[in-house]
Amino acid sequence: AVNYLLTDRDRFRPSEKRWHAVPASLVAGSQGEQFSIISPATGEPVGDAIGAGPETLELAIATARDAAPGWAARPVAERALLLRQVAGLYEDNAAEFFALCAREAGKTLNDAVSEVREAVDFLRYYAAEAEASEPRQPLGVFTCISPWNFPLAIFTGQIAAALVAGNTVLAKPAETTPLIAALAVRLMVQAGIPEDVVQLVPGSGPVVGSVLTSDPRIDGVCFTGSLATAKAIDVKMADNLAAGAALIAETGGLNAMIVDSTALPEQAVRDILASAFQSAGQRCSALRILYVQEDAAERTLEMLYGAMDELKLGDPWDLSVDIGPVIDSKAKAKMDAYIAEFAARDAVLHQLKAPEQGTFVPPTVLKVSGIAEMKEEIFGPVLHVATFKAEDIGAVVNAINASGYGLTFGLHTRIDGRVEELSDRIRAGNIYVNRNQIGAVVGSQPFGGESLSGTGPKAGGPNYLKRFWRPAEAFEP
Ligand code: NAD
Repeated sequence: AVNYLLTDRDRFRPSEKRWHAVPASLVAGSQGEQFSIISPATGEPVGDAIGAGPETLELAIATARDAAPGWAARPVAERALLLRQVAGLYEDNAAEFFALCAREAGKTLNDAVSEVREAVDFLRYYAAEAEASEPRQPLGVFTCISPWNFPLAIFTGQIAAALVAGNTVLAKPAETTPLIAALAVRLMVQAGIPEDVVQLVPGSGPVVGSVLTSDPRIDGVCFTGSLATAKAIDVKMADNLAAGAALIAETGGLNAMIVDSTALPEQAVRDILASAFQSAGQRCSALRILYVQEDAAERTLEMLYGAMDELKLGDPWDLSVDIGPVIDSKAKAKMDAYIAEFAARDAVLHQLKAPEQGTFVPPTVLKVSGIAEMKEEIFGPVLHVATFKAEDIGAVVNAINASGYGLTFGLHTRIDGRVEELSDRIRAGNIYVNRNQIGAVVGSQPFGGESLSGTGPKAGGPNYLKRFWRPAEAFEP
C-alpha cells in the first residue's frame, strides 16, 4: 500500500514535459491534509499531494508490522540485490529527478546531479556493507523522516539502510518535497521491493510525523532535520525508547571557519563562497560564521565581495544560474526579517540583489561585533563575519564551541601544527582543512555531527547500519 495521491497539474514548460511524468499512484484510504506544491523559483504550481489521514496511517503501520517478519527472513544478498536494482532505476530516471529537483526543491542542475549520485551511492554502499557484515536481527518497523534540502539523497539513504538491514519502512518526506519522494518510492517498488515493505506516508510533521514516531508498533526512527524537531521526537518516543526502540537523529549546526593570515587568499575565498552560498546556504554543513584574522581581513573580504558579484541568481532550471531560491515564502520571510533586524543594529558588509519573482534571499555578509557566538541556525545564504587578533585564537575556539552544536568546521592555514591543535579543541563531526566545508563522500568521507548536531553513527560510514539492528547482546542466532 503506497499511501499516496498525486495529481500532476501539467504546468511544466512544454520543453520539460517529457521529464516530469510522475504518474498518479493512487491508493485507497482516508484522505489527510492537502499540499499544493509551488515552485520556489517561479511561483508556479508543480503538483498536489495528499497526506495520510488517520485511517491510512493505521493501515500503513499495521501493514509494515505484518510485513516485517517476512522481509527480515529474506537473505541479505536478496535485499542487497534489490537495492542495487533501485540504484540502476534511479540512474535511468536521473533526468526526471533533475527536473523535479529544480521545480519542486529549487535546486540547480549541479546540486541535482550530486543529489542523484549520492542517492545511488548510498544504495550501493549500504548493500555492500550489509553483505560484508555478520548477519544480525533487524529491529522491525522503521520510520524514516527526512528534510527537504536533500529530498532524494537523505530520503533514499535512510530508507536504504533500514531496508537492507531487514526492517520494513514507513517513509515520511518533508511537506515541501513529496513529489521527488513519490518518484523514488515508485522506482523502489518497480525494482521489486514489495509495496508493504516500503510505504510512502506523506503529511505534515506535527500530524503524520508525530504518529509515526509515538505509535508503540514503531521500533526505530531515523530522522534528519532541525534540532527542535529532534527534541520533539525524542519526547514523543519516550515510551518506545524505554522499550528498546532506536532513535538515530542528524540535526543542524552553527558551522564556523577560521581563516588565519597564512592562508592562501584565492583558495580561502573560493571555499568561503562555496561553503556559505552554494545551494543558497541551505545545507546543514554550510558556513555560518567566518572568523578571519585581522591582518588578512581586508584583502580576504574585498576578494570575497568581488567573487560574490560574479554569482548569478535565478531560476535553477537555467544552466547559467549559480544560486537558486530558498525553499518557500515562509523561509524567505524569516531570513528577510533576520537580515533587516541585523541591519538595524550592525553592519551589512555586502549584499547581492535578488530576483523579484520567486522566493529568493540575497546572498548577504553581516559583520558581527567582537568574537561573537552564534545563537540561531539561519538556514540560507547569510554569512556572518568576525575578525580576531592572533592572540585571541582561544576566544575564537570558545565562541565556536559555545553554540553546543558540532557539525562542520573549516580551517584555512599554512601553520604547521595548527590543524592538529584546533581539530583537537573544536567540537565538530567533520573538519575540513584548506577546502570548502560542504560535502561528504559516501563510503570514504562519512558525514555526521557531535553533541547537539547528531546521535551518530555517521551516514555513509562503516558503522551506520549497526543502529538498524538489534544490539549485538540481544542477538539470537
Ligand atoms: P524540520 O525539522 O523542520 O523537518 C524535518 C522533517 O521532520 C520533515 O519531514 C518534517 O515534516 C518532520 N517533522 C516536523 N515536525 C515533526 C514532528 N513533530 N514529529 C515528527 N516529524 C516532524 O527540518 P527541515 O526544515 O526540513 O530541514 C532543515 C534542517 O535539517 C536544518 O536544521 C538542517 O541543519 C537539518 N539538516 C541536517 C542534516 C544532517 O545531516 N545533519 C542534513 C540536512 C538537513
